[in-house]
Amino acid sequence: MILIDPYWAMKTQPSVIEVVQKFATEERCIKHFEKIRWPEGVRCIRCNGSRISIFNADGKTGKERHLYECMDCNYQFTVTVGTIFHDSHMTLTKWFLAIYLICSNKKGISAKELQRQLSVTYKTAWYMAHRIRLAMQEDRDFCQKFAGVCEVDETYVGGKQKGQRGRAVSTNKIPVVAIKERTSGKIRLKAVQDVKGTTLAQFIRFNVAPGSKIHTDEFSAYLWLDSSEFAHEPVNHQEIYVDGDVHTNGVENVWSLFKRGIMGVFHKVSSKYLPLYLNEFEFRFNNRDEFNMMDRVFSECF
Ligand SMILES: [Zn+2]
Repeated sequence: MILIDPYWAMKTQPSVIEVVQKFATEERCIKHFEKIRWPEGVRCIRCNGSRISIFNADGKTGKERHLYECMDCNYQFTVTVGTIFHDSHMTLTKWFLAIYLICSNKKGISAKELQRQLSVTYKTAWYMAHRIRLAMQEDRDFCQKFAGVCEVDETYVGGKQKGQRGRAVSTNKIPVVAIKERTSGKIRLKAVQDVKGTTLAQFIRFNVAPGSKIHTDEFSAYLWLDSSEFAHEPVNHQEIYVDGDVHTNGVENVWSLFKRGIMGVFHKVSSKYLPLYLNEFEFRFNNRDEFNMMDRVFSECF
């Protein structure tokens, strides 16, 4: 559930000044996250009881801790337990700013830049960015299938592979497939083993409702689509670029933004982390018109 904060409801994306002011103290961050995590009031994370007492205590590091205690089972917990922020020495003010920076840079932000903006070490910046990426993913099993006109295309992302002597000896390209639903403008991305017909079929069947129209280029791995399952309309790029509404321009625009992000910001992404970058990119792209993308991320943090 997403709470609508009237302060932000009028705008598309807040400015950095608004974010810094709104989340200036730990107290404000805790209150905000508490409302998103427990919109009906704090519940015990062990027994789900609603009789909770709130108090502050000194933590091990001397930092004050905002604690909840369940009056039914006596369990003590904090707002961050079981979230991506748990077990971190970083303040919520910095976590929230990191989320803002990742959400507001449409090509993404490098760990190096995050390090500079947040005044943290590179290791910390890298760790925070990865944790945030884990939250920026939608549960595909519960996502509705795309319908209507969908554009499908594939591209290759250069990955680096460790050689036998630990050096990057060869560059292997990883295929990535994208589907864009034309009416909603939303996308789904996936790194795949290969671009064989069966691999692409699996991805399309999982994400697109039967009977939908699928626009692709004339790549042979899409030939299986000429069946009763989907209405397939291939585009011949050599002859005409746009044949009425049969085109793959939408998905090609996604690639151009994606590649500028990968090339310009992340330089080389290893195959191990590519799915995480794809999550981040997809999430940000699909929520680009959301009045408050940060709250969307917060709601995925626990
Ligand atoms: Zn309890």
